[in-house]
Amino acid sequence: MSDAAPDHDAVPYWRAKALEEMTPEEWERLCDGCGRCCLNKLEDWDTGEIAWTNVACQLLDGHACRCRQYETRHEVVPDCVGLTPEAVRTLTWLPPSCAYRLVAEGRDLYWWHHLVSGDRDTVHQAGVSVRDRTVSEVGMELEDYEDHLVEWPGEEVDADLPTSPEAGDYEKIP
Ligand code: SF4
Ligand code: SF4
Repeated sequence: MSDAAPDHDAVPYWRAKALEEMTPEEWERLCDGCGRCCLNKLEDWDTGEIAWTNVACQLLDGHACRCRQYETRHEVVPDCVGLTPEAVRTLTWLPPSCAYRLVAEGRDLYWWHHLVSGDRDTVHQAGVSVRDRTVSEVGMELEDYEDHLVEWPGEEVDADLPTSPEAGDYEKIP
């Protein structure tokens, strides 16, 4: 007797489940590793408007786009925001490309997400991550952050990006 054939039509968990229904492991795997949420943001006191900078949190590895001390990060960065389903739905600054936000909005993941592509490098290849585009906050004065304002962390992913890596060259988000 042969094993049952894999069900290629099965709905993937990020489309089948609400954020609240995910296991801790599924929740962690949903992160695309872009590192955009680890950039410092400036808020206009009068309007509440958020301005992104390319100034990265002291714990971000700017090439790997990973937190260097994820498990114990709050010992070093007490105000690092831990994502929860409620936070995902209420934080106004979560990047529009963020996988948690996409799922919360009922949208699917992009091709470059590792859960779709099977490769954790595609988020970098597609130019979606912060790889090599940041400076560290270490030693930087707050008044100098305004010299590092950038638009791309808060922008939608370029609609011209092909829908699969086989489609050819893709453009980096500026
Ligand atoms: S923006 Fe979202 S998907 Fe990207 S690193 Fe942060 S939590 Fe993960
Ligand atoms: S502590 Fe880690 S997860 Fe939190 S913002 Fe800094 S690099 Fe990102």
